[in-house]
Parts: sequence; structure tokens; C-alpha cells
Amino acid sequence: MPHINKQMVSFFLTTKCNLCCEYCYNREERAKMIERTLSLEIAKAGIDFFFSENSSRHIRFYGPGEPTQEIKLMKQIVDYAQSIAGKQLTVELQTNGVFARGDREWLLNNINIMWISFDGEPDIHDTQRHFPNGDPTSPYIEENVRWLVTHQKGRNIMVGARVTITDENVERQKDMVDYFTKLGIRYIWSDPVFPSVGSIPAYSDKEKMNTFKFDMSKYVGIYIEATQYAKKKDVFYGSFLTCNFDGVTNKHCRACTPVPHFTPDGYISACDLVTFGENAHHMDCFVYGKWNPLTKSFDIDEDKLNALQQRTTENMEHCKQCSARKYCGGYCLGEVVNETGCLLGQKPHVCMAIRKLLNILGTSESAYPYMHP
Ligand code: SF4
Ligand code: SF4
Ligand code: SF4
Repeated sequence: MPHINKQMVSFFLTTKCNLCCEYCYNREERAKMIERTLSLEIAKAGIDFFFSENSSRHIRFYGPGEPTQEIKLMKQIVDYAQSIAGKQLTVELQTNGVFARGDREWLLNNINIMWISFDGEPDIHDTQRHFPNGDPTSPYIEENVRWLVTHQKGRNIMVGARVTITDENVERQKDMVDYFTKLGIRYIWSDPVFPSVGSIPAYSDKEKMNTFKFDMSKYVGIYIEATQYAKKKDVFYGSFLTCNFDGVTNKHCRACTPVPHFTPDGYISACDLVTFGENAHHMDCFVYGKWNPLTKSFDIDEDKLNALQQRTTENMEHCKQCSARKYCGGYCLGEVVNETGCLLGQKPHVCMAIRKLLNILGTSESAYPYMHP
């Protein structure tokens, strides 16, 4: 099922985070800001807003920090959504997996889809994702995963891994599959690392581009082996580059609907990469709404909304003749805008990778069990 079918409302709960990851996608903007947390009033209004215009009853918690750092607020939002949606409600969480033991029971009973940012075996994971003092996080994550998996009985919860692939772990994709399987994780999505979001498009940030390196063709080659290996073990191992291979689409993802992501500073963003509305710089095209404290409602920018909706493969020159267009949808607009500064831009090396993956792996025989986070 193409990624655009992942219709949901997201809450960018808080900037608070207990970790200090090497590649944190928004570390520059988070470092400059004072800590901010979404207000319950805006979150409740956000649920009313989304439920009134969309039949989906799926809600999700995501960055810009670690959502479980504000678990009391998360519980209040879930309670409110449940009071409206009842049993139809489903809840998804993207977490760093380092949450308190005392919170596990609630998470077990209330989260349906939990994606843990987990970069594979400890020697790799802990160099990329550690505490601010450099201490390893994998012992805490392993313990939390084991606890959730062993206490899962009869509950509707899936615990999966969302892996960032860097030059450090690109060759370890099969080992990663083994490691996660042993922990009880059976659904894994991998995402190639990309340049972090700053105040100017990455292509014009010479310093950033000089230090950024990632071997995409190596990733593709090893991913192909690893996904086939995982399949034999009855484990799902997907790639962000193949996230639309299980259907036909002319749009990449929910950012083209768009569906709302409520930011801690009271804006509506269309994309996971744009977690603040104020000073979104070159990413401002994703900020299509703002909380109005006087009217207690959201003001929507129809021009931005229309521009996002117009981002189809038919409207992009480089996609029109592409052999992969029906199973790509024009690729991640967040990454593209972050790197090129243009909503209709392109990441040519990613296009080559997508076409190679499609040529070799073909489309998926069935819908993916869990769509990419
Ligand atoms: S857990 Fe997420 S928000 Fe926190 S430092 Fe790591 S990447 Fe950044
Ligand atoms: S990061 Fe990419 S896939 Fe995710 S919402 Fe933004 S545009 Fe869509
Ligand atoms: S692979 Fe590239 S050219 Fe082809 S549809 Fe996707 S974004 Fe467009």
C-alpha cells in the first residue's frame, strides 16, 4: 500500500531528549532553541481538526526530541483521542527506546505500533546513538524490547526497528537482521542517512556537504542481500527507498495530502523533517497552518497546501519518463527540499538507487505488513 495511505495525525511532542545522537537530523535547530513542548490545548484542537476532515483514527507521536520524555502529555492526548474515536483509535510511537521502566506498562497497553530508532548491534548503535556523556544506550533498549516482547501476550502491539544506515553499519545489514531477530523484533525499516536540516539548503552548505559521506550503491547492494536473507527467516526488512513498491502511486507520501503534524511552537507541518513552524527557512513550504489563539482554531495557508498537493510525478520533469515513477511517487519531498531548496527538485543518486532496487527486487507481492514510519 503506497506510503500516502499512511493517513494519520502526528504530534511533535517535545524538544526534550535524553540522548545525543551523532547524526541527529535536527540537532542544529534543537540546539539553538529553548526547550519547548506542545500544549495540550493545541493537541486537542489538532485531534478535532484531523478527525473532522479525515476518516483515519490513527494518531502518532514523534520528535523533535524523545516523546516519552513527556509521557504525561502523551497519555492525556491518547485519552482525549480515545474519548472521540473509541475502539477505532490506533496509536503509533517513534521512540529512541530509552524510556523508564515505570512507563512500560502504559506503553504496552496503549501503543499499537512502536518504532524504535535502533541502529543494529551495540558496537555500532552505541557509537551513533548514545547519552550526552557518551554512555551506551543499547543495554536500556535491549531490556525494554525484551520486556515488551515477553509481555506482549494478546495485546495489539508491534515493536519494530527503524535503522539509520551510515557508512558504519552499511556492511552489517545481515548481522543486524540476526541481532534484531534474537531480540524478538520481526519488522525492520532501514533509512540511508541524509544531511541534517539546517537554515540553508544542504547543497549550498559547503562545510556540511564536504563532511557528509554515504555510499548509496554499497547500501543498495548489501540491502538486496539482506532483505532476501531476512525473508527466508520470515522477518520483514524494508528500505525507505522501496517504501512505495507495494502499490501504485503518483505521490510520495502523506506530505502530499497533506496530513497535519502539530509542532511544539503551534504550527501545522506536513513533514517529519519540519518540526518547528517559526523560522523554517527553506523548509517553510511544509508549514501550512498555524494555531490562532484568538479564534481557537487553525489558520490554513491554502497556497502552500495546494503546492504540496500538486507535487506529483506528472508535475516533475525528471519523473515523467522514469521507469520507477509508479512505485516511487517522486521520492521524499522533505529530503529533496532540505538538500536542493526546491519542492520539485531531485536527488539523482537516490533515483539511480530506486531504479536499481526496482529492477532487481521488483514490486512487492503483497502490501507491507507495517508501512514505513
Ligand atoms: S533520540 Fe532522536 S531527537 Fe534525540 S538526539 Fe537522537 S536523533 Fe536526536
Ligand atoms: S520525511 Fe519524507 S516521507 Fe517523511 S513525511 Fe516528510 S516528505 Fe514524507
Ligand atoms: S526515481 Fe527519481 S525520477 Fe524516478 S519517479 Fe522517483 S524521484 Fe522521480
